[in-house]
Amino acid sequence: MEFGRLKQLVLKGNFKLPVMGNILSALTIAKELINGTLTLVLDSTLSSIPSAEGYILSVAGTKAVITAKGPAGLFYGCQSLEQLLEDARDYKKPVPLCTITDYPVLSYRAVHFDVKHHLDHMNYYYESIDRLARYKINAVVFEFEDKLRYQRQPIVAAPQAISIDEMAALTRYARDRNIEITPLVQGLGHATFILKHPQYASLRELPWNKWAFCPLHEGTYQVLFDLYRDAIDATPGSKYLHIGGDEIGNIGLCPRCKPTADKEGMLSLSLNWLKKVCAFAKENGRIPIFWDDMPLKEAGVYESTYSDDVTAIAAAKSWQEGTPKLDSLLKEFPANCVYMRWNYTMARQPGNILALEWYKSRRLQSMIATATNAGGGLLFQEDERDKGMAASGVLSIRSFIQLAAEKNIDGMLCTAWDDASPHMENYWQGFIAAAEYSWFPTGRTPEEYDAAWLQKEFGIAMPGYVKLNSQLRAGSLLWYEAFFKNGSRIDGENALQGLSQVEHWLPPLDGHEKKQVDCAALLIDLPNLNSPGIWSLQYKDRLKKSQLEVAHYPALLKQITSLYNSSTKNRYHWQLALAMYELQMTAPRLLLALKEIDISYKVDRAKAIFKAQNAIINFKQAWHSLQQVYAQTRFIANPSNYVPDRYFHFASQREDLSWMVQPEEKYHAMIEKWMQDK
Ligand SMILES: [Zn+2]
Repeated sequence: MEFGRLKQLVLKGNFKLPVMGNILSALTIAKELINGTLTLVLDSTLSSIPSAEGYILSVAGTKAVITAKGPAGLFYGCQSLEQLLEDARDYKKPVPLCTITDYPVLSYRAVHFDVKHHLDHMNYYYESIDRLARYKINAVVFEFEDKLRYQRQPIVAAPQAISIDEMAALTRYARDRNIEITPLVQGLGHATFILKHPQYASLRELPWNKWAFCPLHEGTYQVLFDLYRDAIDATPGSKYLHIGGDEIGNIGLCPRCKPTADKEGMLSLSLNWLKKVCAFAKENGRIPIFWDDMPLKEAGVYESTYSDDVTAIAAAKSWQEGTPKLDSLLKEFPANCVYMRWNYTMARQPGNILALEWYKSRRLQSMIATATNAGGGLLFQEDERDKGMAASGVLSIRSFIQLAAEKNIDGMLCTAWDDASPHMENYWQGFIAAAEYSWFPTGRTPEEYDAAWLQKEFGIAMPGYVKLNSQLRAGSLLWYEAFFKNGSRIDGENALQGLSQVEHWLPPLDGHEKKQVDCAALLIDLPNLNSPGIWSLQYKDRLKKSQLEVAHYPALLKQITSLYNSSTKNRYHWQLALAMYELQMTAPRLLLALKEIDISYKVDRAKAIFKAQNAIINFKQAWHSLQQVYAQTRFIANPSNYVPDRYFHFASQREDLSWMVQPEEKYHAMIEKWMQDK
């Protein structure tokens, strides 16, 4: 069927017209079935499709019919037909005569919007809903943190927070596109956004530690329930409430909790919190979702779920010992809760599978969480296909979803953590892969997925995308490490602003948070002009990598530019890629300029200094451009009256993006001072 042949729309059954794309929404509603008609049929008795979100689309002659059991199926059928028609228009090829039977394997298909350390513009969220709907994602877990304008506990709301009405409007917009917004409000731990305010200090488990609430303090529940109530008001009609609950640590220590922890154990103490919040969710008509690590940790089986070092035999032994502990408290595990099993590296770690089996055999509902970025990368994201691994990127997402399908687990969440706050666009390849595989877990190979992704997202064909990403990623790694004696700018110990050392995994020692870092001591020295060549020898490895980066630059720049120019859709993706690439290239250029100083300063002082100055100017331009590209979709600074929330997450170090380039700030200052002194 040629593009343009469909003219009218006939509805059969009692339903609201689904939201449609530009092409289908231009059809005129009619009554009679003539040529050029799209017919939408709602047939609740349809038995050939197992899901109300499924549909049958048939294209024959100049007619098309979409049949579904439920309105969501009609919506998705229209999305598919719209995209076939877009291709027919763009590639000037007819839509093939076909019958497509399509339905999702997982019924909860969520992605994660985490706004801990940044906020995007509201229109970005609307556009994201449209984009997710095209790929048939049906939920967004929106981790509000302090970016919801809470009414009942207004102190918690950041000055730039989204109002409850704005979020409710987004929720309704999303629902019309078959997407539920599931609010996530962190509770017992991960609570610095609440407990940083002195007004809540009395609710902290340890007076100096803003991470965790006291689970036995009544006030904890007054505050949390108020936040939940506002989150529920902000997401009218949603089914779930994600209550967080991970990585709590440092509880069972206050005078109120210690006796219980000593007598009944930590597992009992944290289940006490879980029971209360799950009961609240039930009373308020929501199904709670809970990150499941704490009970597993307290039963001693957690390590087996994620660590490569635990063999299958060791995992089985660990579960043999841990299962009686979990079983003895089985009655305390709320039955209405969804236990979100999270592990972002290897789906088939033996302990991970044992955990899923424990839930199933105890009739507790579990879902799986995977990640489009768990590695904390700021620029180009990790995709370990080039190393033959499934621990990060599309392969990892695919393997978790395949596991869920095999185990009859009915939901998945593709997380996208904001700890290092990369631009959201970096997450979309993974989001779309999560959509793809939760409809058809064993469908496309990763290579076929890439081809489909490039075609749908950008309208291009490009074999070898993995190689390009891997080359760009190598440049990001060099940028992370370039100026540090050891490790990189995303290692905790290299944070330059003396991040408060209140990581939940540290022993709870008073005073840790006051530890200051000697920034200058972390960065590499400058060349010693009295001994030319020593510096270059000392840093020869990173200089060699720098030379390679500079050598690859013309070809890679040309490649990204050509992708930008040839894409017919989402050119922003490549605009961002160009800006990230230019920024990361500034590190090798500066290192090579320093090498020049190291070797030729005595011979040609003016030239050497000029190169270093130029490298610094080059950085300033690249940094400015990157911020401008970011600013197209997100706010790049917190308002001046934002209450800082400093902890071990990197993006919590500053109120603007400059935490990303703190090493440059310090190192350039060292260079400028050094040049003045010469
Ligand atoms: Zn306590």
